[in-house]
Amino acid sequence: MRRPLIVGNWKMNLNRQQGVALAKAIAGRVSADCPADVAVCPPSVYLDAVGGALHRSSVGLGAQNVYHQADGAFTGEVSAAMLKDIGCRFVIVGHSERRHILGETNEDANRKVRAVLAAGLTPILCVGEKLEQRESGRTQQVVREQLETGLDGVSKEQAALAVIAYEPVWAIGTGVVATPDQAEEVHADLRSLLAKRYNDETGSRVVIQYGGSVKPDNAAQLLGQENIDGFLVGGASLKADSFMDIVGAAG
Ligand code: PEP
Repeated sequence: MRRPLIVGNWKMNLNRQQGVALAKAIAGRVSADCPADVAVCPPSVYLDAVGGALHRSSVGLGAQNVYHQADGAFTGEVSAAMLKDIGCRFVIVGHSERRHILGETNEDANRKVRAVLAAGLTPILCVGEKLEQRESGRTQQVVREQLETGLDGVSKEQAALAVIAYEPVWAIGTGVVATPDQAEEVHADLRSLLAKRYNDETGSRVVIQYGGSVKPDNAAQLLGQENIDGFLVGGASLKADSFMDIVGAAG
Protein backbone atom coordinates (compact mmCIF):
# COMPACT_ATOMS: atom_id res chain seq x y z
CA MET A 1 0.00 0.00 0.00
CA ARG A 2 3.01 2.33 0.31
CA ARG A 3 4.12 3.59 -3.08
CA PRO A 4 7.89 3.45 -3.56
CA LEU A 5 9.54 6.87 -3.70
CA ILE A 6 12.87 7.32 -5.48
CA VAL A 7 14.49 10.73 -5.07
CA GLY A 8 17.73 11.95 -6.60
CA ASN A 9 19.82 14.27 -4.43
CA TRP A 10 22.14 16.05 -6.83
CA LYS A 11 23.93 17.84 -3.96
CA MET A 12 26.27 20.63 -5.18
CA ASN A 13 26.81 19.07 -8.61
CA LEU A 14 26.06 19.87 -12.27
CA ASN A 15 25.63 23.24 -13.92
CA ARG A 16 22.41 24.68 -15.32
CA GLN A 17 22.74 23.09 -18.74
CA GLN A 18 23.68 19.68 -17.33
CA GLY A 19 20.88 19.80 -14.76
CA VAL A 20 18.24 20.68 -17.34
CA ALA A 21 19.51 17.95 -19.68
CA LEU A 22 19.45 15.36 -16.89
CA ALA A 23 15.96 16.41 -15.80
CA LYS A 24 14.69 16.14 -19.37
CA ALA A 25 16.28 12.73 -19.81
CA ILE A 26 14.67 11.46 -16.60
CA ALA A 27 11.30 13.07 -17.34
CA GLY A 28 11.26 11.44 -20.75
CA ARG A 29 11.72 8.01 -19.20
CA VAL A 30 9.32 8.12 -16.25
CA SER A 31 5.91 7.18 -17.58
CA ALA A 32 2.63 8.23 -15.99
CA ASP A 33 2.06 4.63 -14.89
CA CYS A 34 5.50 4.26 -13.28
CA PRO A 35 5.03 2.10 -10.15
CA ALA A 36 7.19 4.49 -8.13
CA ASP A 37 7.02 8.19 -7.38
CA VAL A 38 10.16 9.88 -8.68
CA ALA A 39 11.67 13.26 -7.86
CA VAL A 40 14.95 15.12 -8.24
CA CYS A 41 16.52 17.70 -5.92
CA PRO A 42 18.87 20.04 -7.81
CA PRO A 43 20.89 22.84 -6.21
CA SER A 44 18.54 25.68 -5.23
CA VAL A 45 19.78 28.08 -7.94
CA TYR A 46 18.65 25.60 -10.59
CA LEU A 47 15.25 24.71 -9.10
CA ASP A 48 13.45 27.02 -11.49
CA ALA A 49 15.23 25.78 -14.61
CA VAL A 50 14.94 22.12 -13.64
CA GLY A 51 11.29 22.64 -12.67
CA GLY A 52 10.70 23.97 -16.18
CA ALA A 53 12.35 20.90 -17.68
CA LEU A 54 10.07 18.66 -15.60
CA HIS A 55 6.90 20.55 -16.51
CA ARG A 56 4.01 18.23 -17.38
CA SER A 57 6.09 15.18 -16.49
CA SER A 58 5.56 12.65 -13.70
CA VAL A 59 8.80 13.64 -12.00
CA GLY A 60 8.56 15.82 -8.91
CA LEU A 61 10.85 18.63 -7.85
CA GLY A 62 12.52 18.81 -4.46
CA ALA A 63 14.87 21.15 -2.61
CA GLN A 64 17.93 20.10 -0.65
CA ASN A 65 17.40 22.53 2.22
CA VAL A 66 15.12 25.24 3.61
CA TYR A 67 15.09 27.87 6.32
CA HIS A 68 12.39 27.55 8.95
CA GLN A 69 11.26 31.18 9.06
CA ALA A 70 8.49 32.33 6.72
CA ASP A 71 10.21 35.54 5.59
CA GLY A 72 12.33 38.43 6.82
CA ALA A 73 15.94 39.45 7.34
CA PHE A 74 17.66 36.09 6.86
CA THR A 75 20.31 36.78 4.26
CA GLY A 76 21.04 33.87 1.99
CA GLU A 77 18.14 31.74 3.16
CA VAL A 78 15.07 30.42 1.33
CA SER A 79 11.67 29.74 2.91
CA ALA A 80 9.32 26.80 2.40
CA ALA A 81 6.75 29.14 0.83
CA MET A 82 9.35 30.22 -1.74
CA LEU A 83 10.13 26.59 -2.54
CA LYS A 84 6.45 25.89 -2.96
CA ASP A 85 6.08 28.97 -5.14
CA ILE A 86 8.76 27.67 -7.48
CA GLY A 87 7.08 24.27 -7.82
CA CYS A 88 8.78 22.09 -5.20
CA ARG A 89 6.92 19.20 -3.67
CA PHE A 90 9.69 17.78 -1.49
CA VAL A 91 12.34 19.24 0.79
CA ILE A 92 15.26 17.23 2.15
CA VAL A 93 15.76 18.06 5.82
CA GLY A 94 18.61 17.11 8.12
CA HIS A 95 20.81 15.45 5.51
CA SER A 96 23.94 14.13 7.20
CA GLU A 97 26.11 16.56 5.21
CA ARG A 98 24.13 19.43 6.71
CA ARG A 99 24.34 17.87 10.15
CA HIS A 100 28.00 16.95 10.14
CA ILE A 101 29.59 19.54 7.81
CA LEU A 102 27.31 22.50 8.50
CA GLY A 103 26.49 21.79 12.13
CA GLU A 104 22.71 21.37 11.97
CA THR A 105 21.11 19.86 15.06
CA ASN A 106 18.05 17.71 15.61
CA GLU A 107 16.27 20.87 16.77
CA ASP A 108 17.15 22.65 13.51
CA ALA A 109 15.78 19.68 11.58
CA ASN A 110 12.58 19.82 13.62
CA ARG A 111 12.04 23.52 12.90
CA LYS A 112 12.53 22.82 9.21
CA VAL A 113 10.21 19.80 9.18
CA ARG A 114 7.46 21.86 10.76
CA ALA A 115 7.98 24.77 8.35
CA VAL A 116 7.89 22.43 5.36
CA LEU A 117 4.70 20.72 6.54
CA ALA A 118 3.08 24.05 7.34
CA ALA A 119 3.73 25.13 3.74
CA GLY A 120 2.01 21.98 2.45
CA LEU A 121 5.22 20.37 1.21
CA THR A 122 6.68 16.95 2.00
CA PRO A 123 9.76 16.86 4.21
CA ILE A 124 12.24 14.05 3.67
CA LEU A 125 13.70 13.83 7.16
CA CYS A 126 17.11 12.14 7.05
CA VAL A 127 18.36 10.13 10.00
CA GLY A 128 21.42 7.94 10.30
CA GLU A 129 24.29 6.96 12.52
CA LYS A 130 28.02 7.54 12.06
CA LEU A 131 30.35 4.55 11.84
CA GLU A 132 31.64 4.95 15.39
CA GLN A 133 28.07 5.11 16.68
CA ARG A 134 27.21 1.86 14.91
CA GLU A 135 30.40 0.22 16.13
CA SER A 136 29.64 1.19 19.70
CA GLY A 137 26.12 -0.22 19.48
CA ARG A 138 24.36 3.16 19.48
CA THR A 139 22.60 3.02 16.10
CA GLN A 140 19.12 2.59 17.53
CA GLN A 141 19.58 5.32 20.13
CA VAL A 142 20.94 7.82 17.58
CA VAL A 143 18.31 7.32 14.88
CA ARG A 144 15.47 7.19 17.41
CA GLU A 145 16.57 10.49 18.88
CA GLN A 146 16.84 12.03 15.41
CA LEU A 147 13.34 10.82 14.56
CA GLU A 148 11.72 11.75 17.88
CA THR A 149 13.18 15.26 17.98
CA GLY A 150 12.77 15.75 14.24
CA LEU A 151 9.04 15.08 14.55
CA ASP A 152 8.48 16.99 17.76
CA GLY A 153 5.19 18.90 17.56
CA VAL A 154 4.19 17.11 14.34
CA SER A 155 0.64 15.69 14.40
CA LYS A 156 -0.20 12.17 13.27
CA GLU A 157 -1.95 13.55 10.18
CA GLN A 158 1.20 15.49 9.26
CA ALA A 159 3.51 12.60 10.12
CA ALA A 160 1.61 10.32 7.75
CA LEU A 161 2.55 12.70 4.93
CA ALA A 162 6.22 12.97 5.86
CA VAL A 163 8.99 10.83 4.41
CA ILE A 164 11.84 9.45 6.49
CA ALA A 165 15.18 8.57 4.90
CA TYR A 166 17.45 6.23 6.80
CA GLU A 167 20.94 7.10 5.63
CA PRO A 168 23.78 5.54 7.60
CA VAL A 169 26.56 8.12 7.38
CA TRP A 170 29.18 5.44 6.73
CA ALA A 171 27.32 4.40 3.58
CA ILE A 172 26.88 7.84 2.01
CA GLY A 173 29.13 8.42 -0.96
CA THR A 174 31.48 5.67 0.20
CA GLY A 175 30.45 2.82 -2.05
CA VAL A 176 29.76 0.80 1.11
CA VAL A 177 26.07 -0.05 1.16
CA ALA A 178 24.19 -1.32 4.21
CA THR A 179 23.19 -4.94 3.75
CA PRO A 180 19.46 -5.45 3.24
CA ASP A 181 19.29 -6.97 6.74
CA GLN A 182 21.14 -4.06 8.36
CA ALA A 183 18.88 -1.54 6.66
CA GLU A 184 15.68 -3.50 7.31
CA GLU A 185 16.48 -3.78 11.01
CA VAL A 186 16.63 0.01 11.35
CA HIS A 187 13.64 0.64 9.07
CA ALA A 188 11.49 -1.78 11.05
CA ASP A 189 12.56 -0.12 14.28
CA LEU A 190 11.75 3.35 12.95
CA ARG A 191 8.34 2.16 11.79
CA SER A 192 7.57 0.63 15.17
CA LEU A 193 8.62 3.87 16.84
CA LEU A 194 6.24 5.79 14.57
CA ALA A 195 3.45 3.34 15.37
CA LYS A 196 4.09 3.73 19.08
CA ARG A 197 4.35 7.51 18.93
CA TYR A 198 1.25 7.96 16.73
CA ASN A 199 -0.68 4.78 15.94
CA ASP A 200 -0.35 1.63 13.81
CA GLU A 201 -2.03 3.20 10.81
CA THR A 202 0.34 6.15 10.78
CA GLY A 203 3.31 3.84 11.25
CA SER A 204 2.24 1.76 8.29
CA ARG A 205 1.64 4.79 6.06
CA VAL A 206 4.96 6.58 6.42
CA VAL A 207 7.35 6.05 3.52
CA ILE A 208 10.81 5.16 4.81
CA GLN A 209 13.54 5.45 2.20
CA TYR A 210 17.03 4.03 2.41
CA GLY A 211 20.02 6.09 1.28
CA GLY A 212 23.72 5.30 1.07
CA SER A 213 25.53 4.07 -2.04
CA VAL A 214 22.38 2.78 -3.72
CA LYS A 215 23.26 1.54 -7.19
CA PRO A 216 21.39 -0.34 -9.91
CA ASP A 217 22.94 -3.60 -8.73
CA ASN A 218 21.86 -3.38 -5.09
CA ALA A 219 18.51 -1.58 -5.44
CA ALA A 220 16.24 -4.56 -6.03
CA GLN A 221 17.51 -6.51 -3.04
CA LEU A 222 17.09 -3.55 -0.72
CA LEU A 223 13.62 -2.81 -2.07
CA GLY A 224 12.67 -6.43 -1.42
CA GLN A 225 12.72 -5.71 2.31
CA GLU A 226 9.35 -5.21 3.92
CA ASN A 227 10.05 -1.78 5.38
CA ILE A 228 12.21 -0.24 2.66
CA ASP A 229 9.98 1.95 0.53
CA GLY A 230 12.37 3.57 -1.87
CA PHE A 231 15.63 5.47 -1.98
CA LEU A 232 17.32 8.78 -1.58
CA VAL A 233 20.08 8.50 -4.16
CA GLY A 234 23.19 10.67 -4.37
CA GLY A 235 25.96 9.72 -6.79
CA ALA A 236 23.91 7.35 -8.93
CA SER A 237 21.27 10.03 -9.50
CA LEU A 238 23.67 12.16 -11.56
CA LYS A 239 23.35 9.94 -14.63
CA ALA A 240 19.98 9.22 -16.22
CA ASP A 241 20.86 5.58 -16.93
CA SER A 242 21.88 4.63 -13.42
CA PHE A 243 19.04 6.60 -11.83
CA MET A 244 16.47 5.05 -14.15
CA ASP A 245 17.85 1.57 -13.50
CA ILE A 246 17.25 2.19 -9.80
CA VAL A 247 13.73 3.45 -10.55
CA GLY A 248 13.26 0.31 -12.64
CA ALA A 249 14.02 -1.85 -9.60
CA ALA A 250 10.77 -0.58 -8.10
CA GLY A 251 8.64 -2.38 -10.62
C1 PEP B 1 22.83 10.96 -0.19
O1 PEP B 1 23.60 11.90 -0.24
O2 PEP B 1 21.69 11.15 0.26
C2 PEP B 1 23.30 9.67 -0.66
C3 PEP B 1 22.61 8.63 -0.32
O3 PEP B 1 24.47 9.65 -1.40
P1 PEP B 1 25.10 8.37 -2.18
O4 PEP B 1 23.94 7.68 -2.89
O5 PEP B 1 26.08 8.95 -3.12
O6 PEP B 1 25.69 7.50 -1.14
